[in-house]
Amino acid sequence: MRKKIVIGNWKMNKTKAEAIETLKLFYAGLGSLDSVEYGFCPPFLYISDMVREGTIAIGAQDVFWKESGAFTGFTSAKMLKDIGAKFAIIGHSERRGRFGKLEVPESTIGSFAETDETVNLKLKACLAEGVIPIVCCGETLAEREAGNTDSVIATQIAGALDGISEADLAPLVVAYEPVWAIGTGKVCDAAEANRVCAMIRSCLPASIRDSIRIQYGGSVNPANAKELFSQSDIDGGLVGGASLKAEDFVQVVQAAVV
Ligand code: PEP
Repeated sequence: MRKKIVIGNWKMNKTKAEAIETLKLFYAGLGSLDSVEYGFCPPFLYISDMVREGTIAIGAQDVFWKESGAFTGFTSAKMLKDIGAKFAIIGHSERRGRFGKLEVPESTIGSFAETDETVNLKLKACLAEGVIPIVCCGETLAEREAGNTDSVIATQIAGALDGISEADLAPLVVAYEPVWAIGTGKVCDAAEANRVCAMIRSCLPASIRDSIRIQYGGSVNPANAKELFSQSDIDGGLVGGASLKAEDFVQVVQAAVV
């Protein structure tokens, strides 16, 4: 059976003191729970401090594919590994310039230049360094309304996995995140989310597809998490807003206990 994995994506939120406080409150509220894997992805600046607390797994919201060099402002998988980060989110829609509610002017889209090709490079870098990759995919509202959900996602998955051997892909986690559901309060219907996650599974190499974990992300909260996480092809969640409050995230993680 696949172990459920629930990860909180804090995005660009919290001061350092708030981050440590939330971590402590979460840890105290959850107690020990071995049947679910869970963790937080805080802003880069707080990763070391949160790892030092030594309580739960901490990851990054992004990673760069080069190991080192003249790449101003970037952080490599090797550096993440070095400071004790366990996983990295790759290809989040907000890094592709695709937001659930915020409109991005065309002139600024280059600031969010994540593509299927960069996702592929970042995935390879994480696998090489032993950082667990959480690869995000998902359709916009316009793509869904045009009936293109499955083809958009199949293309994203094919691009992400291009040239990577089945054996190397074993640690992969995929997050299905419909863009229109992220930060909007509009959660995807559980049966439809499960259908898309099963479709994603069918895009994975046959030898590993049954063991790869596929999360759902998009307005998960304590009230809807149980229904989502009990679907046959949903193996946990990638959680934004509801991971910012310790007591909410405790409930979301507990909802993954089967
Ligand atoms: C996310 O950031 O990946 C996310 C799913 O956000 P939210 O839970 O706030 O919709």
